[in-house]
Amino acid sequence: MDVRSQISMVFHLDKCIGCHTCSIACKNIWTDRKGTEYMWWNNVETKPGTGYPTKWEDQEKYRGGWEVKNGALSLKSTGRGQLIANIFHNPSLPGMDDYYEPWTYKYQDLFDAPEGPDQPTALPISMVTGKYIDVEAGPNWDDDLGGSPIYAENDPNLDGLTPEQRQQLFAIERLVFFYFPRICNHCLNPACVAACPSGALYKRGEDGIVLLDQKRCRAWRSCVAACPYKKTYFNWNTGKSEKCILCYPRLETDQAPACFHSCVGRIRYLGVLLYDAEMIETIAKTDDANLIDAHRSMILDPFNPKVIEAAKKNGIHESTIQAAQKSPVYQFVKVWKIALPPHIEFRTLPMLFYVPSMSPVMASRTEDGILNSSDDLFHDIESSRVPLAYLAKLFGAGHDGKVRYALRKQKAVRMYRRMVTVGDIDQETVDHMLREADTTAEEAEAIYRLTSLCTFNDRFVIPPAHREVAIEMMKDPCEHKSSVGFGFLSPPKRGF
Ligand code: SF4
Ligand code: SF4
Repeated sequence: MDVRSQISMVFHLDKCIGCHTCSIACKNIWTDRKGTEYMWWNNVETKPGTGYPTKWEDQEKYRGGWEVKNGALSLKSTGRGQLIANIFHNPSLPGMDDYYEPWTYKYQDLFDAPEGPDQPTALPISMVTGKYIDVEAGPNWDDDLGGSPIYAENDPNLDGLTPEQRQQLFAIERLVFFYFPRICNHCLNPACVAACPSGALYKRGEDGIVLLDQKRCRAWRSCVAACPYKKTYFNWNTGKSEKCILCYPRLETDQAPACFHSCVGRIRYLGVLLYDAEMIETIAKTDDANLIDAHRSMILDPFNPKVIEAAKKNGIHESTIQAAQKSPVYQFVKVWKIALPPHIEFRTLPMLFYVPSMSPVMASRTEDGILNSSDDLFHDIESSRVPLAYLAKLFGAGHDGKVRYALRKQKAVRMYRRMVTVGDIDQETVDHMLREADTTAEEAEAIYRLTSLCTFNDRFVIPPAHREVAIEMMKDPCEHKSSVGFGFLSPPKRGF
C-alpha cells in the first residue's frame, strides 16, 4: 500500500443555481491578464449543451485522455510519433472558434454619443482584434437552454439516446436543464502531466494539486490536447500554458479556493482523500462497466489503523490524516456513494466528483392530496425528464447503475425529510424507500445535514499546509515528473 493524500472536491449539482459567481471570482483573481481573455479556469455549462470549448466531451474530435491498447495505457492524442508529425499544427487542438472570440463593449460610446432620440448603446468589440464583432459564440452559449434546439442537440452525451429519450428531453412543454460547473479535476492519472514533453506539469506530493511550471513550459500545447476536459489553456501573450491551481496560495493559508468560497448555492465541498497510489495503473485500465467501483476502491478508509500506519510511513502528517477523517468528500464519495466522477471513461481518474441532479418532481394533485404519478416509489427516477441514459453518459461511463443508486438514495432522503417536516407520508412507506435505496434514517439525516444545513467549516475541511513534509516526500522535485501520472512506478516513455 502506497498511501498518498489528495485534496478532492464534490459539487452538488442539485444546489447549483447557475449564477456564475464562481467563474467571475476565478476570472478576477487569475485570468484578467493579457492573453487570458478567453480562459475560464472555472466555467459553468448548461446541460444538455455543447459546453466550452464546444463539444469538449467528443474525444473523436479532440482525442484527449487515455485508451487501453493491447493491455497498456496510452495517450490518445500525443504519442511521440504524433508529437513530431503535428509539430506545427495539431489537428486535435481546439481553436478560437471552438472556445470563442473574447469580447468586451465599447463603453466610451455611452458617454461620447451625441444627443439624440435613441439611447446610446455599447457595441461589442473583439478583445483580440479590437474591432467590432458580431458575437456568435460564448463560454456558455446554451445558457438556460438559449437556442437549445439548435445547439444542445449537438451535445455528445445525447449519442446513444433513443429518439423517445431525446423527445423526452426536448419536448417543449417539458424542457429541462441543469448546470454543470467545471474546474480542473486534479486527476490521479493526469493526461496533461503525462503528455508534456518538457516535464512542466507535475502533481504536488503533499496534496495532489496539478500545477504547471511556467519556466519549464515550452509551448508544446500537448497538455491542451491531452486533457480530455480541456482544462489547460494556452496563453497567446506569454507563449505558456496555464491552468487551475486550486488557489493553492489560499489553501496554504487555510482559505477555500475563490470559486468555492464565493459559491452562492453552497454546492462545493472540499476535503482530503487518502488513496493507494499503487493501484492507479490497474484501476485506469479497468473496463468501463467497473471503473467507478474500481476508482472508489482505491480511496482508503482514514480510520483504518493499517491505512494510518502506512500513511505516516509515507510522511503524511497527522493533521492531514485527521482532516481526511473529517472530509465531507469522503462521506459523499465513499460512504454514501452519491457523488460520481465525470466521464471516468477518459481514464484520468478525476478527483472532482458530482452529486447528480434530480429532475423536477413529477406529481399530481387530487382531492386526497398530492400523489406520485406511479405506484412505483422510484418511478420519477426511471422516467425522469433528464433520461438516466443521459446522466449515465456523464457520470457512469455509459452505465446507469451508479447514477440510479445515487438518485434513489437522494429521493429516499427527500421522502424521509418530507415525512419529518410535512408529515404527509407514512413511516412504513419511508422505511420501505430507505431500505430500497440502501440507506437508513440515520444516514438520510446525515446526508440532509451536510447537503442543506452545512456551515463553511463543514463544507471545507482544509488540512494545515506542510511544505516541510512535501519536501521530504519529494526529495527530488523531478521524481514524479518522469511518471506517467503520479504514483506510477515505472519510468515514462515520452518526449523524443
Ligand atoms: S488531465 Fe486532469 S489534471 Fe490535467 S488539466 Fe485535465 S482535468 Fe486537470
Ligand atoms: S457560484 Fe456556485 S451556485 Fe453559482 S454557478 Fe457557481 S457553482 Fe453554481
